[in-house]
Amino acid sequence: MSECIFCKIVNKEIPSDIVYEDENVLAFKDLNPVAPTHILFIPKKHIPTLLDLDSETQHLVGEIHRAVVYVAKELGLEKGFRLVGNCNEHGGQEVFHIHYHLLAGRELQWPPG
Ligand code: AMP
Ligand code: ZN
Repeated sequence: MSECIFCKIVNKEIPSDIVYEDENVLAFKDLNPVAPTHILFIPKKHIPTLLDLDSETQHLVGEIHRAVVYVAKELGLEKGFRLVGNCNEHGGQEVFHIHYHLLAGRELQWPPG
């Protein structure tokens, strides 16, 4: 059994607030939101970081983007949003299963910290 917390969410071994699901992609609300809308988009397949993508799995990034656009339109986020992918130590990644943060609902600062 996987020890990865996001794999456990994929396998419905622990609860989550799912907002979107298809064959390869799952989206659920972040447990500790930093914006009024804070949704995590993950591939269902366990891939630790963006650096681990290869020719067989890189299509998942496109599928995630398609899901992000679908959810953003469903939620009426036409004012805008930010999509963040933290990678490894310097990127601030804490969960080592690829994920993108969809942040929206307030004006976000640039550059990020
Ligand atoms: P990162 O720092 O990019 O790895 O982000 C990991 C994110 O996962 C953080 O924003 C956490 O709040 C979120 N998180 C961790 N565990 C859970 C969980 N069980 N359900 C929803 N979000 C979670
Ligand atoms: Zn995983």
